[in-house]
Amino acid sequence: MPGKLYIVSTPIGNLKDITFRAIETLKEAGLIACEDTRHTKKLLYHYGITTPTTSYFEHNKVRKGEYLVQLLKEGKNIALVSDSGTPGISDPGFKIINLAIENDVPITIIPGPCAFVSALVLSGMPTDSFMFKGFLSQKKAKRRRQLEALKDEKQTIVLYESPHRFLKALGDILDILGDRDIAIGRELTKVFEETLRMKVSKAIQHFTAHAPRGEFVLMIRGNA
Ligand code: SAM
Repeated sequence: MPGKLYIVSTPIGNLKDITFRAIETLKEAGLIACEDTRHTKKLLYHYGITTPTTSYFEHNKVRKGEYLVQLLKEGKNIALVSDSGTPGISDPGFKIINLAIENDVPITIIPGPCAFVSALVLSGMPTDSFMFKGFLSQKKAKRRRQLEALKDEKQTIVLYESPHRFLKALGDILDILGDRDIAIGRELTKVFEETLRMKVSKAIQHFTAHAPRGEFVLMIRGNA
């Protein structure tokens, strides 16, 4: 009988944001596949979890994914976690989930935190209908083309962005989408958590004066 792949959501900052079932699953799994074992070990240590870990990340996801599916087929129960939030949302989890499905390996989820859900709710922008775009391209020309394609989007647009590209992305948004209302969820659930709600131009001024630090989710009001 094959084992089961457990997709386990973990905190996006505050270590207390984890479910009882997530802790139980991580304790009982035969192996925990982590995006970064050193990062996840802090969480495991905090909860006294001693289950063996292995790495599963962007650059080993093909080879390692096949190996993990082989272990699942042989009967091992594997818990998959990413560095934060829900595996499969803008992280390599997507690949192994598909590999498990293709191989008829049972798969289930232990739901929990997800950065964009928290940020969108705090933004105050419409949540009944939104478009999650994940990360824009790191390449300027492609990023601008992606934004062009969003010009007429009526739903709230939700993006992930890294601190080093944040100002560049805001500049492109101002150029292409105009001076829209945006909301920025920064360092959610952490000590310096904040949600800023302002026009793109104001955000550019703000982050020119205060260099972007930490983790960001960006919401852009749709083109009503
Ligand atoms: N799987 C994760 C999830 O469920 O949200 C997302 C993984 S993605 C590689 C990481 C991105 O999520 C960061 O670059 C940032 O945009 C966003 N993020 C993660 N933690 C955050 C936090 N505490 N506050 C704001 N954004 C966060």
